[in-house]
Amino acid sequence: MIHRNVTLIILVGAPGSGKGTLAQYLKEKFDICYFSTGVLLRNEVKKGTDIGRSVERIVESGGLVEDSLVNEIVRKNIKDIEPEGKAVILDGYPRTKEQAQFLDEIDNGALKQTIKVIELVVDNEEVIVRISKRRVCAKCGNTYGPMDKIDICSCGGKLIKRKDDEELTVRNRLDEYEKATLPLIDYYSDRIVKISGKRTPEENARVADNYLCDWGIERRR
Ligand code: AMP
Repeated sequence: MIHRNVTLIILVGAPGSGKGTLAQYLKEKFDICYFSTGVLLRNEVKKGTDIGRSVERIVESGGLVEDSLVNEIVRKNIKDIEPEGKAVILDGYPRTKEQAQFLDEIDNGALKQTIKVIELVVDNEEVIVRISKRRVCAKCGNTYGPMDKIDICSCGGKLIKRKDDEELTVRNRLDEYEKATLPLIDYYSDRIVKISGKRTPEENARVADNYLCDWGIERRR
């Protein structure tokens, strides 16, 4: 079970804003666990579970899966995180104010005090260009950007284009993002720091790096 003194770092940003890349970087540099509802949902789809079948079309079309279902998956899986370190990155959750309220209430509000939010702010047209160039590992779900000149993931899985990364789907996801996630940013206004999307991934990483050090999270040795 997550300890009360573990920092939960929530990455918020439109699809393609660089959340995945930043999360990978932080995971490598810091003593930190990684938790992604997108990966959990895609795994359910791949395994063909009841949940997987019920969310498949939504995930493929870039819509948002219903809050109650995502919250249930989070409740089930967040217990299993055993951070040896002091922090957990939540990538892609919460995405709505309702999900944020749910997270704040888990375990009688145990996690609420530990939440820090990093928002990556990027222009929509920039997002479309970025997403057209990204691939994910078919096996573990890791995301790879245009700079990665490989076709096989470090886990041995093949890199493929995600179905939900087609342009029309991305535009739907951006619409959904604006509708659902902007109230979330408002909700977190007292715990949020922002990183401008005009920066390169390396610059994003440097800025985030400083925040994590300020929050007392230790680097890997
Ligand atoms: P991601 O890998 O975070 O981009 O998530 C892939 C897809 O999974 C999204 O486009 C949504 O359909 C679904 N999804 C992931 N996380 C959430 C969430 N917190 N709330 C609703 N849907 C989600």
